Amino acid sequence: MGVRERLQNNPKRLEWLYKTTHNMILGMKPMISRLGMERFERFVVGVERWSKEKIFDCRMCGQCVLHSTGMTCPMSCPKNLRNGACGGVRENGHCEVIPEMKCVWVEAFERSQMMGVYGDEILHVQPPVNRQLEGKSAWVTMLTGEDKDVPAAWVGINNIPVIDSANK
Ligand code: SF4
Repeated sequence: MGVRERLQNNPKRLEWLYKTTHNMILGMKPMISRLGMERFERFVVGVERWSKEKIFDCRMCGQCVLHSTGMTCPMSCPKNLRNGACGGVRENGHCEVIPEMKCVWVEAFERSQMMGVYGDEILHVQPPVNRQLEGKSAWVTMLTGEDKDVPAAWVGINNIPVIDSANK
């Protein structure tokens, strides 16, 4: 098992790291606004790309949903699915497109069950990926709110759990 897999199989630790980074960036917002988002992005985009690629096999979609997907990057699914597995998952839980690889969504679900804070978010419905944000820093789009900018038809749908957790 590689280092990335070992890290990802400990999603509680990654969840803590995510929460800490998220809060730190939010706390820096006034300073970042003074500096200018574009200048901040030029500075952090390389750091984000390098660190998240190493840990999550990140594809820099610009709208990070790791905390809703068991700290498993949905963009590493060959079909880039954002809302669960396709109909082609094999009986052994492996990918239809790359048979030697475990389905990203099987892993996402298993890992979400090990999380402490965001685990239930695996039930949230994710809007379609906005390809215009590809390559941008998700830390910056989180600050500007661009990552929440969904098509009009999706307003009110995003982040509504599919299953009522009270009835689980
Ligand atoms: S969801 Fe997007 S930003 Fe987050 S790890 Fe995956 S590709 Fe990177």
